[in-house]
Amino acid sequence: MLHRNEVRLKICETAKILFDASLLTLSGGNISCRVGGMMFITPRYSAEKFKWRLKPREICEIRMGKALEEVPKPASRESRLHLAIYETYEGVNALIHSHEKNLMGYALAGKSPSLFGEIARLLGGSLPISGEEVPGSGELARAVVSSLLTKFSADARSLAVIVGGHGVVVGADDLGSAGSILCALSEYAYAEIVKEHFQSR
Ligand SMILES: [Zn+2]
Repeated sequence: MLHRNEVRLKICETAKILFDASLLTLSGGNISCRVGGMMFITPRYSAEKFKWRLKPREICEIRMGKALEEVPKPASRESRLHLAIYETYEGVNALIHSHEKNLMGYALAGKSPSLFGEIARLLGGSLPISGEEVPGSGELARAVVSSLLTKFSADARSLAVIVGGHGVVVGADDLGSAGSILCALSEYAYAEIVKEHFQSR
């Protein structure tokens, strides 16, 4: 099991890599890891204020297993969403929520990109799409989990969902794998847009 300082550092490094690769944007998003009974999550305004240049000490820790009456102030306002997914999916230990621009188009249209190859073997040919709810709300957390459950059984170790009108959430056993899934989804979303552009000519 990773030491807590290693988890914090890994989240910071992942945030920088994903932002530099345009897989995270400056409008929002959050990253978390579950280690033992703790959830480590990026702070509120990681995008807007921190520009994804986070320091390990800025990563927040939330003890899991008890109902969260209020999200602790420095932690991401989507902490409820992350906790709800971890509580449902025992095999998922890393989550990324992103407003990545290609997937954002699908989120606004309420559609999934078509998936092929390796990523389709992992996630199926399309992603579930959750209803639109207020960001940071318990309603959004419930909507995302119930949407995920239409496609991924509770023993799934990888998952992804288009969050209607909002963005995407991807999950995997570790942060590296979650980042790779996000990258592949972004590529398939962009490729489908380009393909449809040429086919419509
Ligand atoms: Zn968001």
